[in-house]
Amino acid sequence: MHKSVKVILIVFLLTACATTPISDRQALILIPQQQEILFGKQAYKKALKDQKDSENAHLNQVLRRVGQRIAEVSAMPKLDWEFRLIESEDKNAFALPGGKVAVYTGMLAICKNEAGLATVLSHEIAHVIARHGAQRMSQQLLLTGAMIGANLSLRNNTQRNIIMSALGLGVLYGITLPFSRGDEGEADQIGLVYMARAGYDPEEAIHFWQRFSEAKGDKNPPEWASTHPADKTRVKGLRTYLSRAKYSYQNIKLKYGLGETFNLPAPADKNIPEKPKPVPGVSVEALSPN
Ligand SMILES: [Zn+2]
Repeated sequence: MHKSVKVILIVFLLTACATTPISDRQALILIPQQQEILFGKQAYKKALKDQKDSENAHLNQVLRRVGQRIAEVSAMPKLDWEFRLIESEDKNAFALPGGKVAVYTGMLAICKNEAGLATVLSHEIAHVIARHGAQRMSQQLLLTGAMIGANLSLRNNTQRNIIMSALGLGVLYGITLPFSRGDEGEADQIGLVYMARAGYDPEEAIHFWQRFSEAKGDKNPPEWASTHPADKTRVKGLRTYLSRAKYSYQNIKLKYGLGETFNLPAPADKNIPEKPKPVPGVSVEALSPN
């Protein structure tokens, strides 16, 4: 092989392979980080275009405080981190390359407290740190044989669908591309360590996932569930990763435990079971439990 070809090949492979912090997993990434960050920022704007920010000053402050604490202990503390609380019953949350994070108020009921919120945020931030979006884009681009490089753009419909679904926002365009088991496990593993380093009791992550799993049976199942299956495989993985996170937690000076428990506005009337209505011939008392 010609020497210069060899050099080019080596440079290409060095760019393409990245080692993920905490999990030490090798990742194939064909998208330059600056471009990934630009996509993240553009996608954030698109996703939140018609959304309303929450006016609850206190909850906004709590979200920023938990988010900043996690961002600071992450491998990318210098990103332009932004945390927005969206007023919506949707149970959803996401983080995008470039440090753009959104949590919907509907999700807070499942989070219940700061440590629950830290579970969601650290998991989502872990997807950003591990560059799962860029990895998924790389895979999709290789599969479809699309152009890799400077020509990639959100303005092209096919490429936009690839980019948005790779970032976990495909739902906006009617496509769900769930994160793979491997990516989910990795985000859990990294997330647990980050939440512990940020001062939140990692044990609460197990309780959060239990609550989340129960909420799947609700009338409005969490949107987050379409990309985040809460099943036995996940819980098993979480238990495996927990000991390392607990070790980090023991060695951290500033501990917040579960943090503040959220004082959320009462759920809308429709969630309260209706009083039994009289049925002709049957008394209401007969319908009520003893
Ligand atoms: Zn995930």
